[in-house]
Amino acid sequence: MLEYDTVVVGGGPIGGYVAGKIAEKKYKVIIFEKNRQIGTPVNCAGLISPRVFDFLDIQKEKVIQNTLKGANIHSPSNNILTIGGNRIHAYAIDRTGFDNEIIKKAQEKGAEIFLESNVLSAQKIGEHIEIATSKKHEVRTKLVVGADGPYSKIRDRFILPEPKEFLRGIGAEVTNTNLDPDFVEIFVGDKIAPGFFAWIIPTNDKGTKARIGLCISQNIKESPKFYFQNFLKNKNSSNLLENIKIVKYIGGVIPLGALKKTYTSNVLVVGDAAAQVKPTSGGGIYTGLLSASHCAKVAIDALQKNNFSSQYLKKYHKLWYADLGKELYLGMKFRKIFKNLSDNQMDKYIKKFQDPKITEIISEYGDIDYPSKLVRPLLKKTPTLIRLIPSIIKEK
Ligand SMILES: Cc1cc2nc3c(=O)[nH]c(=O)nc-3n(C[C@H](O)[C@H](O)[C@H](O)COP(=O)(O)OP(=O)(O)OC[C@H]3O[C@@H](n4cnc5c(N)ncnc54)[C@H](O)[C@@H]3O)c2cc1C
Repeated sequence: MLEYDTVVVGGGPIGGYVAGKIAEKKYKVIIFEKNRQIGTPVNCAGLISPRVFDFLDIQKEKVIQNTLKGANIHSPSNNILTIGGNRIHAYAIDRTGFDNEIIKKAQEKGAEIFLESNVLSAQKIGEHIEIATSKKHEVRTKLVVGADGPYSKIRDRFILPEPKEFLRGIGAEVTNTNLDPDFVEIFVGDKIAPGFFAWIIPTNDKGTKARIGLCISQNIKESPKFYFQNFLKNKNSSNLLENIKIVKYIGGVIPLGALKKTYTSNVLVVGDAAAQVKPTSGGGIYTGLLSASHCAKVAIDALQKNNFSSQYLKKYHKLWYADLGKELYLGMKFRKIFKNLSDNQMDKYIKKFQDPKITEIISEYGDIDYPSKLVRPLLKKTPTLIRLIPSIIKEK
């Protein structure tokens, strides 16, 4: 049986990042990835904030496809709220390229990776964990990092809590669009994407290519495909999608409601496995990487001190929670309000938000990673908005 200092389960961006950081300190690290290729299939719309690159030593020019300055939010009856436009708020990235660059860096730092290696079991034997894969690897380690995505086996195997909900997503890479390349288009409404929203993200600077898609709540009777086909024909979006050609489909699940416990003895879970995802947008790359930076730090400390007790590893949970806990908690609260809005209410509030006093504040303070930062300046400038909160909750 082979021995490694750390086994990382999952070769996504978060597993790749953690593996690289630990390997950099000369520890023996292995990544097991069940898919045949890194970053494929794509389960992502690929919209990230510029600060994602602060964590990474990859060349961003290699993966950025387009820069985005604002968003047009379409209400159910197609009132359009335009926000931003003044500065770069986000990038559209080539997600397959992004994942590959992160893994390549991890390998350069010494991490090993095995593809098509589904981790089938992980068992605590004495002071160690023994891992077995579909490729018949048998590995012993003192530390396992579960970066194995929304349906994490490591999370389940070590009886850590489940995410609160799972959104179901669908999308596609398309060509022949005629879009403003600077703006993301967002569509809300029960008939479009119940419980979440649909998007069109221009992926080149001519507005002729895009990633489109939507997510719906998990308890909706119809399939995501049903809503996706409607989205292509829907009157609010169809003028933007009239002549498109679908190049490739995208799917996936988004876990929401970060885990209340992300560690146990010899085990840390991180990224989608820990549901470290923004509940308002479904974005998990920034929040995952921020959490991964703490995960890697505590993993290195544990390796240096040879202490893999639950008590010691708890430090990781405390650190990421201090950075993100409040934001993710508030995100779930906003989500609850949003999910309860009827189409009429969405129309009404989007109209109210078209007030230039409000759009100016959103454009100035809007931050896709920290949406709660908007609340204070919005309420300060337009205190009447506070009246909306109880009425939104009460009306439905
Ligand atoms: C439709 C959709 C759109 C999205 N859009 C955005 C967006 O625009 N911006 C954004 O920031 N986020 C977005 N996200 C979320 C984002 O994709 C995730 O937060 C991100 O991929 C999390 O990275 P991860 O490494 O934690 O997990 P993943 O990327 O899921 O990687 C986990 C890896 O583990 C592997 N694995 C799983 N089980 C095993 C096992 N037993 N053995 C070995 N390997 C295993 C998987 O094959 C996978 O490669 C979107 C998600 C979806 C579904």
